Amino acid sequence: MEKTKKTILAVDDTETNIDIMLELLGEKYDVIVALEGYTALEIVKENRVDLILLDIMMPKMDGYEVCRRLKSDESTLNIPIIFITAMSDEKSIEIAYEAGGDDYISKPFKPLELLARINTQLKLKELIEHLNYISSHDEMTKIYNRRKFFELGEKRFEENSENMYAVMIDIDKFKNINDTFGHPAGDKVIRLMAKTVSKLLLDDAIFARIGGEEFAILCSYPSHEVAAQSMEKIREAVEDLEVTSDDGKSIKFTISQGISKRTQETKNLDELLKIADVGLYEAKHLGRNRVVFK
Ligand SMILES: [Mg+2]
Repeated sequence: MEKTKKTILAVDDTETNIDIMLELLGEKYDVIVALEGYTALEIVKENRVDLILLDIMMPKMDGYEVCRRLKSDESTLNIPIIFITAMSDEKSIEIAYEAGGDDYISKPFKPLELLARINTQLKLKELIEHLNYISSHDEMTKIYNRRKFFELGEKRFEENSENMYAVMIDIDKFKNINDTFGHPAGDKVIRLMAKTVSKLLLDDAIFARIGGEEFAILCSYPSHEVAAQSMEKIREAVEDLEVTSDDGKSIKFTISQGISKRTQETKNLDELLKIADVGLYEAKHLGRNRVVFK
């Protein structure tokens, strides 16, 4: 069953404050508590936390520092942080926002105000997550879109130079499929093809729809042979697929692929993809439904 309750982490070195928050929030939310900053950071690493209520004055590590660390880590940066503190001077508030805090409430807080602000921050977080999703995924196939492919791919290219391969894929004679069976059938072909390829790739592969019927993969394999075999397996799997048009006709389709391997001379991702594209062009020229390694 899907979890419906959101999880709030309450961080305060005074136990009475924690008790008040538990009393107020315990029914509506799952509340995890931490009495100091380091514990809070550990908890965030190991649990899905939707929002953090953070005290400022704490021994060892203060709330500002906890906030800075969470906001500088990509995996925790989107968790809203509301400072709840007795420090209500303007300077403290300024530092809290500079540290990356999303909201600020002075103690003693008004319960209904705190609940309302929590609600607002949770709604904002959901909206941001939704926007992030739609700006990075292809609507039809749910795999990455072109923009996200280049964002992730360029990062991967910087970080990792070992055994990197790029693959360009194109659905053969796709225009014919659309013209003969209609666009809904063409869409089915694209969706099924993307789903099939996704399943056959390793978890760390970056797979995206980069154009109408064009796809790209950035992946690692231990050797040239394994990379080629894996793409051959994908080609065969697609060849076995079948979709049915709206008027009940069976449609078979194939893909062509070009693969390139990154070498010491490969300057950037664009170049790696261009070489794969040359392979793709050759695969088309040689009669389609094949893999060409460049
Ligand atoms: Mg304190």
